[in-house]
Amino acid sequence: MSTSRRSAEEPLVLRGSLIVLRRRCGKPGCHCATGDPHETPALSYSVEGRTRMLTLGGVELSEVQAAIARYEAARGELERQARASIEALRARRAETKAGRRR
Ligand SMILES: [Zn+2]
Repeated sequence: MSTSRRSAEEPLVLRGSLIVLRRRCGKPGCHCATGDPHETPALSYSVEGRTRMLTLGGVELSEVQAAIARYEAARGELERQARASIEALRARRAETKAGRRR
């Protein structure tokens, strides 16, 4: 059993965006020489400010989309908590100041 495989109870969480890479392979006889280029789905993400790409051949794209949405939702919730915490801290500070004045 592979340990790198995530269990079904632990869903994927992905930061990045789903894109489609289009390229011509260069083979003269290929349909892409005159017609549509080859399309490969990929996950575009950044690591330490650099954009990286992971091609997703054979990967369930709906699962990747759900994983991206999961990350965005979690990030949104974290952002909401952070803003609420700033307000709570601000309120506490204002209270302390008011108390000191008396
Ligand atoms: Zn081709």
